[in-house]
Amino acid sequence: MIKQIVFLVALLITLGVFTFSIQRYFKYFKFTKRKPLKNIGKRLWNTLDVAGFQVKIFRRPVIGLVHALVFWGFMIILFGSIEMVVDGLSGHEKVFSVLGVVYSSLMAFGDVFALIILVAMIIFLARRLILHVKRFSGVEMKPVSEYDAVLALTIIFVLMVSLLGMNTFYLKWAALTGTQVEGLYPISHYLVGLFSSMTVEQAWMWYQINWWTHILLIFIFANILPYSKHFHVFMSVPNVFVSKVEPLGYIENMDNITKEVKVMLDPNATFDENTEEETVERFGALDVDDLNWVNYFNSLACTECGRCTSVCPANITGKLLSPRKVMMNTRARMKEKGPGLVKEGKEFDDGKHLVMDYLTEEELWACTMCNACAQECPININQPSIILEARRYLVMEESKAPAELNTMFANIENNGAPWQFAQDDRMLWAEGLEVPLMADKFANNEKPEYLFWVGSAGAIDDRYKKVIREFVKILNYLKVDYAVLGTEESDSGDVARRAGNEMLYQMQAMTNIEVMNGYEVNKIVTCDPHDFNTMKNEYCDLGGNYEVQHHTQFLQKAIDEGKLTINSDKFAGQKITYHDPCYLGRGNGEYDAPRDILKAIPSVKVEMEKNRSFAMCCGAGGGQMFKEAEKGDKEVFIERTEQALETGASIICTSCPFCMTMMTDGIKYKNKEEEVKNYDIAELVSISLGL
Ligand code: SF4
Ligand code: SF4
Repeated sequence: MIKQIVFLVALLITLGVFTFSIQRYFKYFKFTKRKPLKNIGKRLWNTLDVAGFQVKIFRRPVIGLVHALVFWGFMIILFGSIEMVVDGLSGHEKVFSVLGVVYSSLMAFGDVFALIILVAMIIFLARRLILHVKRFSGVEMKPVSEYDAVLALTIIFVLMVSLLGMNTFYLKWAALTGTQVEGLYPISHYLVGLFSSMTVEQAWMWYQINWWTHILLIFIFANILPYSKHFHVFMSVPNVFVSKVEPLGYIENMDNITKEVKVMLDPNATFDENTEEETVERFGALDVDDLNWVNYFNSLACTECGRCTSVCPANITGKLLSPRKVMMNTRARMKEKGPGLVKEGKEFDDGKHLVMDYLTEEELWACTMCNACAQECPININQPSIILEARRYLVMEESKAPAELNTMFANIENNGAPWQFAQDDRMLWAEGLEVPLMADKFANNEKPEYLFWVGSAGAIDDRYKKVIREFVKILNYLKVDYAVLGTEESDSGDVARRAGNEMLYQMQAMTNIEVMNGYEVNKIVTCDPHDFNTMKNEYCDLGGNYEVQHHTQFLQKAIDEGKLTINSDKFAGQKITYHDPCYLGRGNGEYDAPRDILKAIPSVKVEMEKNRSFAMCCGAGGGQMFKEAEKGDKEVFIERTEQALETGASIICTSCPFCMTMMTDGIKYKNKEEEVKNYDIAELVSISLGL
């Protein structure tokens, strides 16, 4: 009875302190922005896949396996911990043993996992204290983060020792008293042999010591967690559930801006006030309470593992930006501002802000929006969404974009292209080629199957104009029923959006959608992965619903259907390496189409070490193409070109206008123009076909 009373008191204290700690975090949620959770089915699948099967942690297979075993082990051992609580309250031993074979199996797995987790903790501690793994350090990692990690790992280590001890002394006591053993304990079964001279009393005493050590440590640990990075023990699974389910390339529409843009484009536009979003105080995020609740949830779930920062091209090349810091700063800022918000409400102002005080402009403008961080995060945290919100604030509220980006915005506004280029010149690339115009086709009552979206770079950039010409030759060769918009095409708005100018993006998108819907466009093919992503995933939010293909997908389909056969030895014996564009690869999961096309071209294919979803950005995304890079050790495009050159390839193949510019510049920078060429995949096909 005394044991039950002591246990009850300990449990109540634990639950009381835990509830107090948790509510401190959770009461801040009401100050964040609303965001509805759609696609529940997909979320459940995501949770099973990413949290249950731990698929993302296996991106680093060896240490990933150790982490996954720890997670699965915890899940099994949790059953035993719940039983201990019931035992403690009821005063009985092994209450769940009525489950028979299920119980025996769970106990057996728990016993084995206790040993596995114990070994894993030794490995994790060694990685921190002896090996000093690089990703555990960084400007944002203060000594307290290290102490926190070491303390948590040590507690888990002791928890596993006490669990094995508890099982071992239970077996010993049962053997000495002739009591029937409930459950199976394959590891502890061997450990019993170490205590051959133990008496019944000693076995019972050590069983009790380990039992109490284990359960009290669980109670203590549960109350340390809310103040530790190991809070992710509670937060990571629900975080996966609330995380982004759309393609990584997708950016959610700012509906409050849509209304403004509609009025700008048509002052007579009418709205159903019931369906309109609430008016917002500011565009983008200046402070943590301007972010949505999922952003804040993400920050609470962050384990500070640094996987995101270790793949961030900006960080790798010595820039200040660290996506882990973005998450840690978001959490820290809410911890600082939260109590004031609770006391004084939304009006609370302590003179500090997340943007500028915690995250500097230099950090925010260094991001290429490549999504490598989000791809890498084992619990699906989306760091770029916070960076984007901060950029939106800087651009739309403060007009504080870097000067080159302001020029780019002005060019799009005035000329429909990010460069200074007259709209009327958008068809100059087609000189000497047969390229049908949508307007002409429509005038003849013809409705082409495809709209070929040329894109701003295709229409303007001298190098990429050549690619567009080659692709058009392929379209003509395949006798595809297509047309282009010509001077009616305007910039997709993608770059403006990712640089924070949502207003300009929506103006561009709505203008283009009106033109395309006017021509009853259904299918679009484009060579630009950025425009591909925006038109495929984002235009639908503004009324533009199209089946969009990247030219690599289009060509792959033509090869698969037998319409396109390449019997040429133009590149035979040449080594080709392919660079994955972020918005085709990570953004939309397309890695096979370009590789399948290359397979059809007789040549030697070599992969860069970082390929497919691990591929490093070329450095041009997120508006970087139009501005000077932030200071660092190296430019991103040089780093990526070096990775390509390491393969020994004589051809670096790309499938994006921005990647092409960056890789061409990289080859020039490395003085390799004689030995190494940069081709778009469309050029390789066109040259192979002898077009
Ligand atoms: S999106 Fe890319 S550049 Fe930006 S923080 Fe993430 S990894 Fe770094
Ligand atoms: S955001 Fe994800 S990957 Fe980055 S440190 Fe946090 S948990 Fe790790």
